[in-house]
Amino acid sequence: MLRHSSTRFLSMAAAVFCLLVLFVTDMSFAQGESSGKRVLVGFKGEKGRQIAQQRRNIVSNYGGKVHHSFHIIPAVSARLSEKALARLKEHPQVAYIEDDVIMRAEAQTTPWGINKIDAPTAWGTSRGAGVHVAILDTGIDYDHPDLDDNIDGGVYFVGLINDGSTNPLHWDDVRGHGTHCAGTVAAEDNTIGVVGVAPEARLHAVKVLNDSGSGSTSDVVQGIEWCVDNNIDIASMSFGGSSTASLQSACNAANSAGVLLVSSAGNGYGGPVGYPAAYNSVIAVSATDSSDVIAGLSSTGPQVELAAPGVNVISTVPGGTYASKQGTSMACPHVSGVAALVMAAGIADVRTQLRITAVDLGAPGKDNYYGYGRVDAAAAVEDPGFDLSGLVYMPQDAPDLGYSVEEGDLVYFNSFDFVQSLNTATGGWSIHMPTDWVYFDWPFYYELVPGTPGILWFAIPPAGGIGVYHFSTSQWEVLPQIIPW
Ligand code: CA
Ligand code: CA
Repeated sequence: MLRHSSTRFLSMAAAVFCLLVLFVTDMSFAQGESSGKRVLVGFKGEKGRQIAQQRRNIVSNYGGKVHHSFHIIPAVSARLSEKALARLKEHPQVAYIEDDVIMRAEAQTTPWGINKIDAPTAWGTSRGAGVHVAILDTGIDYDHPDLDDNIDGGVYFVGLINDGSTNPLHWDDVRGHGTHCAGTVAAEDNTIGVVGVAPEARLHAVKVLNDSGSGSTSDVVQGIEWCVDNNIDIASMSFGGSSTASLQSACNAANSAGVLLVSSAGNGYGGPVGYPAAYNSVIAVSATDSSDVIAGLSSTGPQVELAAPGVNVISTVPGGTYASKQGTSMACPHVSGVAALVMAAGIADVRTQLRITAVDLGAPGKDNYYGYGRVDAAAAVEDPGFDLSGLVYMPQDAPDLGYSVEEGDLVYFNSFDFVQSLNTATGGWSIHMPTDWVYFDWPFYYELVPGTPGILWFAIPPAGGIGVYHFSTSQWEVLPQIIPW
């Protein structure tokens, strides 16, 4: 069922894509104007400047209004009446007469994933300008016409020779994987090809994978180190493997240094989330299809933080062309792109913002397939209206992890069931929340009405007790029936 609809979408997407990015000729043509029909009259014999004038005269003599007689091809562009055309067609030197077909500029198409996450709506607020995104991958096709204006440069860390080289010939992409990911993040919004999630973000090719698509941990760690040293905002890592102490330390260090790390969960359905995605310091991304259903190729697990389009993703590939690929590798750059939009919008806590604005899918609240949900660019670039830094995230197993909550904290609960049985670690409260107490009215996010499963926010208000913070009025409501522990 899933497979069937995916295949159908692939062929549909491929058809639409080809129609738009290939050099399109419109089969309609200009006609019906008062002075006749626009045609190209082809002649037998050689081309040349001298004979071009003679051919001009022939067409004129048949009543044609000549626009140009070509010397690089034996043909004349002219406008003639239907009657004159019929007569000219019989001229012994005329080889053919064809319609002067209208040519159109190559068009840009918006990949389905870009629309699915509602990036075009977000562009009214943010386009990722000034945000630096490193693509740790097989390199980027440095002269791709849909990427080159957005590429700030790159660096090469594969192997020992040319290590650290910033020469484009070294970080150029042969395999195509990195170029594809780069296009999803920031393909240019122009008249050709595709457009990325954050079309004004700055791309950096950090080549840590070789032309076969694999790389060593040491090269990856070098790439991460380069990101820290070069003030990269977001590191997009569409690869994975097993955990090593060095990789984990490097991710933790980069995260602490302020680099937002995003990585693909892995391409093994039912299999565990790979590394670096599974580290706490990294956002793990699962892949969804155009129906917002988890892709059959996506790894899943408790570390999945967000979901994004990863099936039949059309993007840039080397040689100035485009191709469809799938995998959590394609989902990861969607999240990196949304993160760039959020950063450029000036929202401080990007990771929390991505979590709370994601579209919850599957089981209510955070789950092993979609994490907090599928990223939503339009919601993510909206100012949350309060300081997210005061937010304490409580996973479903929070009491076991010993999270403590203090007065003034905002607490984010990701599960309705969890809320009903929560005991905050400060030992002050056991919360009993009948569904008819619970509501939420943050306009651009959720409106949680009684009985509706979803994501809840509430907190310990400044005056003490447990309350609901009303984002619409910026006021606390202390809930009256809290039963002390
Ligand atoms: Ca484009
Ligand atoms: Ca969910």
